[in-house]
Amino acid sequence: MDDFVFKGIPTRVIFGSGTLAAVAEEVARLGGKAALVLSTSHQAEDAGRLASDLGGRCFGVFSEAAMHTPVAITEKALEAAKSLGADCLVSLGGGSTVGLGKAVSIRTGLPHLAVPTTYAGSEMTDILGETKDGEKTTRRDPAIRPATVIYDVALTLGLPTDMTVTSALNAAAHAVEALYAADGNPVISQMAGAGLAALFKGVPQVVADPTDAAGRSDVLYGAWLCSTVLGQAEMGLHHKLCHVLGGSFDLPHAQTHAILLPHTAGFNAAAARAQLVPATALFGEDLGGGLWDFARAAGAPLALSDLGFTEKDLPGAADIATRNTYSNPRAFDAGDITALLRAAVNGTRPR
Ligand code: NAD
Repeated sequence: MDDFVFKGIPTRVIFGSGTLAAVAEEVARLGGKAALVLSTSHQAEDAGRLASDLGGRCFGVFSEAAMHTPVAITEKALEAAKSLGADCLVSLGGGSTVGLGKAVSIRTGLPHLAVPTTYAGSEMTDILGETKDGEKTTRRDPAIRPATVIYDVALTLGLPTDMTVTSALNAAAHAVEALYAADGNPVISQMAGAGLAALFKGVPQVVADPTDAAGRSDVLYGAWLCSTVLGQAEMGLHHKLCHVLGGSFDLPHAQTHAILLPHTAGFNAAAARAQLVPATALFGEDLGGGLWDFARAAGAPLALSDLGFTEKDLPGAADIATRNTYSNPRAFDAGDITALLRAAVNGTRPR
């Protein structure tokens, strides 16, 4: 066994079905007497129900969370927290809402309890990406992590199938990149492999029947593992490219991850063959092709052109993606990035 450092997992996690019922008790455990519930406008009704379940422990709902955590929205949420005298934050939703909880928590020191309802995986990480004046900046700080995460399978039963598939592939991308991360370790690799296996088993079941509780449970369990490894390891080329396409070309988060994963995994497969064994054992020795087949069978989008990103955007994207150096198992230049992205633009199976 090589030497390694395992950083530890400080977040308290409650996983199950019907676990939303534990929110009041968990808010109390954090010392909360006046929680502010956060959500998007789309999930405002669910947030309202949660607020009423919290009864005297909830002082209000702020339902304006938005993709990429705009600082202007965070400032409005800060105002709401202050005027209501909130002493605790409960975020109910996908990565956008959890991101808002992190943004308010890191500015105020208020404890944050996250209830994720997608598989994006922000909840177990120390990462916060925020946008201001059209620019996205990302930082890591242990204080960004939610104190408690409640996973409730029941909340995911209604997640639309297209979002389910793209969000699950978003989760899978965390695990694939954790396997070859320069700062990885055996614990992370075990969790990443188990996360991929749970997604590999659960996604086809949920696509066949979105209300299949056992399949949903596997996918949410996989998402927890994938989020955990995202919070422990440095990500490589895949996450960098998604950041470029999301930040500079405004492409949607989960779909972009879903489309790029087969191409980035295929690009890195030979350079990280030994580390990627837990992934190739599931998706095949031709990892890029196997992931592409899996995504296609699940009905995932395959072409960046369907998201509005076209061949004319390639030089700009390759330029931004190669401006800074970052860790990746295989070296690359702008020509490599252009070729990789061209295949993703056209939705062709990676070779
Ligand atoms: P999202 O949170 O924007 O959710 C998309 C839409 O789906 C929203 O309208 C939401 O209300 C709705 N929704 C969520 N759960 C639902 C459910 N169960 N049923 C029905 N509708 C539901 O999208 P996302 O993909 O979860 O998150 C993307 C964001 O998260 C991006 O901004 C990304 O940068 C961030 N993110 C951050 C990290 C991190 O570690 N900091 C990790 C992953 C993602």
